[in-house]
Amino acid sequence: MIVEADRVVRFHYTLRDEQGHTLESSREGEPLAVLHGHGNVVSGVEDALLGRTAGDRFSIDVPPAKAYGERLDGHSQRVPKKHVSAPRRLKPGDEAVIATRQGYRSVTVLKVGHSVVDVDLNHPLAGRTLSFEIEVVEVRAAAPEELAHGHVHGPGGHGH
Ligand code: ZN
Repeated sequence: MIVEADRVVRFHYTLRDEQGHTLESSREGEPLAVLHGHGNVVSGVEDALLGRTAGDRFSIDVPPAKAYGERLDGHSQRVPKKHVSAPRRLKPGDEAVIATRQGYRSVTVLKVGHSVVDVDLNHPLAGRTLSFEIEVVEVRAAAPEELAHGHVHGPGGHGH
């Protein structure tokens, strides 16, 4: 079965930056499971998966426009410290997550004050060309419930 819209694809990936540093990898755990054509992954990866089958291995370079967008200058905001989640005491350069009306958003800390934090709203990977090494593990038809939700259920997908 080949990858096409509305099919479930499970794949391992390793994400590297322009210098070849590994940023993320699924190799220590479960493959990622996505419902193709539903924006579950960046569009460059979705495009590259189209037509592949289980066992295919390939590498792709994804430009910002097909990954996390271009980096916007001056795209910063001052937010109350209590709205910023981070695993430890905040310092400039840290990645953190803030709650917005549109949901959670990954940001980079610019400056930390007593009760407020200045954050760069660009996604931490905005403006980066990303290199993905991908191995397709499984391609299957989606269940009606998965299509209705727009994502995969079970290992590598949503656990609800
Ligand atoms: Zn669901």
